[in-house]
Amino acid sequence: MIQILTKHRRTSVRLAVPLLITTLLMLTAACVPGESPDATEPPLDPEEVTDPTPAAVNGNGESPAIPLEPESDGGTSPGQSLKSTPGNIWAETLIEGNLVTISREVATMEDHVHFEVPANGGTAAFLGYFIEGRFYAQAVFCPNCGATSIAWAEDALSCGECGATFELISGQGRDGALDYPSGRISHAIVGNTITMPLDDLIEAYSRTASGEDTLFEIISVGGGGGGGGCRGCG
Ligand SMILES: [Zn+2]
Repeated sequence: MIQILTKHRRTSVRLAVPLLITTLLMLTAACVPGESPDATEPPLDPEEVTDPTPAAVNGNGESPAIPLEPESDGGTSPGQSLKSTPGNIWAETLIEGNLVTISREVATMEDHVHFEVPANGGTAAFLGYFIEGRFYAQAVFCPNCGATSIAWAEDALSCGECGATFELISGQGRDGALDYPSGRISHAIVGNTITMPLDDLIEAYSRTASGEDTLFEIISVGGGGGGGGCRGCG
């Protein structure tokens, strides 16, 4: 393709441009039968994707639609864990490879959701919540005292052990309490699923537990190329 276009460009630029357009139109028509091509359609932001159709899922390429099965009956919704108690909804985690998926429906049943993943022979628990349409998750591990008793407190997270409270979005400790590491766990929201990389969750939890400043190691790229470090893009 590139070689062909290069050859055309050498011989005749005027010829190459209409050829390119014709080729693109033919390719578009061949690849998407029954759909009108729309070259100006903007790329989908995973944060904003709400279309539950398989096309949106496949178009993302990294967020397979995993059917969320109820663990059993007993009044729980699909994707909801039996660990749920009034005021504390737990979501089942479905793990496929490095992808952890929870049900968005379960995550929004109340103002926050609990979930946990296997980590280092044990489990790492998280609190997830939506603030102004954006999803956040924090390790259930107090960065101030090390207790594993972080609870939802309406407009903050609070530690049941030392009483420290933390901002929901920034994770900053109030009244001088030590902060959560800065950063945000990457995720994709597609249809009824919220998907997060398992190794990111484990890293975020362990770096919270060890009192790091950031959720993820900052990798500085020399040479000035490439743009911002996009985790999970490659
Ligand atoms: Zn604490």
